[in-house]
Amino acid sequence: MSRSRIVIVGAGFAGYRAARTLSRRFRGAAEIVLINPNDYFLYLPLLPEVSAGVLEPRRVSVSLAGTLRGVRLVLGEVDGVDLAARKLSYVDPEGASGELRYDRLVLTVGSVNKLLPIPGVAEHAHGFRGMPEALYLRDHITRQIAMAAGGEDPAESDARCTFVVVGAGYTGTEVAAHGKLFTDSLARQHRRAGSGLRGDRLPRWMLLDIAPRVLPELDERLSRTAHRVLTKRGVEVRTGTSVKEATNEGVLLDDGEFVPTHSLIWCVGVRPDPLVEETGLPSDKGRLCVDEYLQVPGHPEVYACGDAAAVPDLTHPGKYTPMTGQHAVRQGKTVAQNVAASYGYGERRPYKHNDLGFTVDLGGLQAAANPFGVPLSGPLANAVMRAYHLAALPGNRVRVASDWLLDAVLPRQAVQLGLVRAWSVPLESSSPETAHAPAWSGHGYGPDGNAAEKPSQG
Ligand SMILES: Cc1cc2nc3c(=O)[nH]c(=O)nc-3n(C[C@H](O)[C@H](O)[C@H](O)COP(=O)(O)OP(=O)(O)OC[C@H]3O[C@@H](n4cnc5c(N)ncnc54)[C@H](O)[C@@H]3O)c2cc1C
Repeated sequence: MSRSRIVIVGAGFAGYRAARTLSRRFRGAAEIVLINPNDYFLYLPLLPEVSAGVLEPRRVSVSLAGTLRGVRLVLGEVDGVDLAARKLSYVDPEGASGELRYDRLVLTVGSVNKLLPIPGVAEHAHGFRGMPEALYLRDHITRQIAMAAGGEDPAESDARCTFVVVGAGYTGTEVAAHGKLFTDSLARQHRRAGSGLRGDRLPRWMLLDIAPRVLPELDERLSRTAHRVLTKRGVEVRTGTSVKEATNEGVLLDDGEFVPTHSLIWCVGVRPDPLVEETGLPSDKGRLCVDEYLQVPGHPEVYACGDAAAVPDLTHPGKYTPMTGQHAVRQGKTVAQNVAASYGYGERRPYKHNDLGFTVDLGGLQAAANPFGVPLSGPLANAVMRAYHLAALPGNRVRVASDWLLDAVLPRQAVQLGLVRAWSVPLESSSPETAHAPAWSGHGYGPDGNAAEKPSQG
């Protein structure tokens, strides 16, 4: 008789934790299958440090095979769920299709970049939701500064040295805070090398949000700290402002100002992964509806949690839990306990969690944090934040800590490898975790899944 099979779709905060908890509970009594496009768990909160060259990309990519014992990893992206037949279909990284049957299904597919219908944005902006986008941004920033330093046209150099971040939530705020330090360091290195930027000016960073304050969704005290640190560092914070149009030459703001730039970084938020819609199950604003046990009503064998699920927030009746890693990871544990309970191992329990506070990484020795509601700023907040991340990372802790140490004593590396090109990280992607095929491709791919030819434009 075949073992019962539990399939988890998505190895992010919720899926990784669910797989780990289930493997410990079952110890081989059920088959646990984890399907994910990549072979790593991406620790998203540290991604801004990757785009700013503080951390090497593999530091925040924790090996699934290396850390999840008793879990079968299938590399693939699920593209359909047949609820009646209890099976799902997927495409593997080399384009082949496959099918998997399940007895229990846990959907933890997370979210993708949110789009707004603004002319030119889909073509000219890049999001910040996956590793390819972070690597693209790191190289793009490095290249812009190098080209500005070596260029002869002052207006073009100014445009290359201007970076516009839209969305001052925690992602946009952290990207701008780290980005400014990164570009300042690169500019100083070019200056020492003798190819200074015009008038020895430092690169310009703008952080826009339609909301009246940065970090609009967080405690106001965190907003004040972030605003103070950013403005002191030279980031232009424009609240109550948005983008009206994006073009090849720059960005038109809704107050009429035109900002010449080649860098529009889109951090306006996220929307649930489109796979939710594919299932045809009831959803609310794209999030799959579940009950407080993280079960899909009418389908007791299907569970969902994390960003992709509309989980009732029992601490704020009538609301759903926010899309944060803090909730996703705890929901991953609860969903595993409830799946185990459905086989008679323990009791099922409703999901309930009181927020423990938030940390916002402001680069250098700066951070804003409110652990257990206590507001902290400066190096103390930074120490709390780093300790929290090291504790929360399921692997690579020593590597992350050594990168932090090296960054404290060495200059950032002014090197761009240019392996992730602009066309491979389209903003409207439904899978920001993978770099994409160029739309122009006539030759397709080599056997390794890499593009056989590449365009000259980056
Ligand atoms: C830059 C950044 C910084 C952040 N900082 C913080 C922070 O400091 N604190 C905090 O609490 N939250 C933070 N968040 C939010 C947090 O990362 C998310 O809320 C959390 O990742 C959600 O967890 P999840 O498991 O639902 O989804 P994810 O962690 O996104 O995981 C989803 C997984 O599903 C996979 N997947 C998607 N579609 C498919 C498919 N069709 N088939 C198979 N697999 C699929 C993806 O590849 C991914 O591995 C941050 C987010 C970002 C982008």
